[in-house]
Amino acid sequence: MAHQFLFPLEQPTLLIHDSQQRFPVRRIFCIAKNYAEHAREMGVDPDREAPFFFTKSPDDLVSGAWVQEIPYPKATKNLHHEVELVVALGENAKIAGYAVGIDFTRRDLQAEAKKRGRPWAAGKSFSGAAPVGQLTTANAFKKHPKGEIALKVNGKVRQKGTLDQMIWNIDEIIKHLSAYDRLKPGDLIFTGTPAGVGAVQPGDSLEAHIDGLDSLHVRITA
Ligand code: MN
Repeated sequence: MAHQFLFPLEQPTLLIHDSQQRFPVRRIFCIAKNYAEHAREMGVDPDREAPFFFTKSPDDLVSGAWVQEIPYPKATKNLHHEVELVVALGENAKIAGYAVGIDFTRRDLQAEAKKRGRPWAAGKSFSGAAPVGQLTTANAFKKHPKGEIALKVNGKVRQKGTLDQMIWNIDEIIKHLSAYDRLKPGDLIFTGTPAGVGAVQPGDSLEAHIDGLDSLHVRITA
């Protein structure tokens, strides 16, 4: 007999470009300070010490084909955008596809956590913290996406870089993560953000872009 659940629970998914199928999401891993200029703007020297990771909840995902409306989250006065390339893992931890994502961060809560030696969870995981655009399947790329990664707020460029500026490239990130835990189909990896992170306000419109992928459009509501 099939399980009976106490209440209905929706499986978080990503849309897939030009497909009726959806990508079911299991976990969300994120790498910290993976672009040198962003590390510097956060007050740390970039280095090649082993990378470190944090997680978001799959329930933080916001995914859809057009403009995603995200209510300004609770408990912060400093919500920051971080545009990132998102890698989606399929069977046998092989890359199934790529998408544009925003690692929204409650910077004030993260700064407080850093100061007190507490976990980053409150700063990084909350409703609406992980909007992700449509997935483009891996077979559209020779190896990985390359080129520009950028984010505009109300039409003005705030973040701009290139994917080859990553300190740890995609293969290295997967290798490091795999040493911590067995990666599984449905896992997403946020691969870090270029310099230029900053605050957004209710009413702001964001456009996140990576060459070769569907752009992600987000509007912050009150
Ligand atoms: Mn990030």
